[in-house]
Amino acid sequence: MTWPPLRDELRGLEPYGAPQLDVPVQLNVNENPYGPSPECVADIARSVAEAASTLNRYPDREFVALREALARYLSKDTPHGITPAQVWAANGSNEVMLQLLQAYAGPGRVALSFAPTYSMYPEYARDTGTQWVVGHREEDFSLDLDHARALIEEHRPAVVLLPSPNNPTGTALPHDAIAGLCEAAADGLLVVDEAYGEFRRAGVPSALELLPEHRNLVVTRTMSKAFALAGARLGYLAADPALCDGIRVVRLPYHLSAVTQAVALAALRHERELLGKVDELRDERDALVGWLREQGHEVAESDANFVLFGRFRDRHAVWQGLLDRGVIVRETGPDGWLRVSVGTPDETKTFELALSQVTEEVA
Ligand code: PMP
Repeated sequence: MTWPPLRDELRGLEPYGAPQLDVPVQLNVNENPYGPSPECVADIARSVAEAASTLNRYPDREFVALREALARYLSKDTPHGITPAQVWAANGSNEVMLQLLQAYAGPGRVALSFAPTYSMYPEYARDTGTQWVVGHREEDFSLDLDHARALIEEHRPAVVLLPSPNNPTGTALPHDAIAGLCEAAADGLLVVDEAYGEFRRAGVPSALELLPEHRNLVVTRTMSKAFALAGARLGYLAADPALCDGIRVVRLPYHLSAVTQAVALAALRHERELLGKVDELRDERDALVGWLREQGHEVAESDANFVLFGRFRDRHAVWQGLLDRGVIVRETGPDGWLRVSVGTPDETKTFELALSQVTEEVA
């Protein structure tokens, strides 16, 4: 007998995750490079202290105050508004999406997405016993809508996972594509993963606007990226209240700790400050795209806080060369490409200098 007695399909697999290395310039997991201000830290600390005095009790299982605050926040992105009953939250949007598959996919059902895309999606499918089907994207990483419709027709997926902007390419989805695919996938859920939604270009609307017309649409968000709160682990979604009720059946009791709820609520009180760097990060992204193109690299159009660039004959050598110079990026996406997160102007300069040196050596 092999030990440990893992499920057959898990044997020999590595846990998911980017290398966590102590490197001066961390541009590998799409975090916001700016930490919270002293005022925000003080408010979070006060809120946690208050929560600590009642930690002998289980937290509010329905996280009512947090759902209200998240609904208020999301309502800014849609003229139709979002009600607390439409909101669900969990420990990161990864957990939100896992819960979605636990409730709405599973054995005998299919989850569908289009590669290259977020590499956790097949893991949600594997972990929930869901059949994973993956289609392709166009050369420029946009969706091939005819191909998408054909796969939906063929597999009748219980859940379609569509990030907008997509990770690792940064590609945003046009509204009419989302609306059309919601109709095509009407038997199941269409999840638009807006983890990087706040970084989208001006004029690109959020899929939240489409919720009233499509009861099978789910829009997921996270506080990990634009909101600069990756360490707190808070992700959430907006959808038809009936869909949120379905998730309640599979969620573990008290899954959101009192501390998590207190931190997230405090952070939402500092929304303006925490999101204050989003415009700068967008400008920094566009400048980085321009610089990479000037250097002769191929760069995918990005609506996110990261950029996919290439193509390198030996991308691992480039990744290693950058690491040797104190800069960590992500070795992900199609062969030959690398993904770099948008950092502070100083971090970007260090990255650019390091990349110039490395490409001279490796190219
Ligand atoms: N969706 C996408 C597209 C992501 O890139 C990430 C994080 N890398 C997540 C969801 C999950 O983020 P979190 O669990 O921190 O909310």
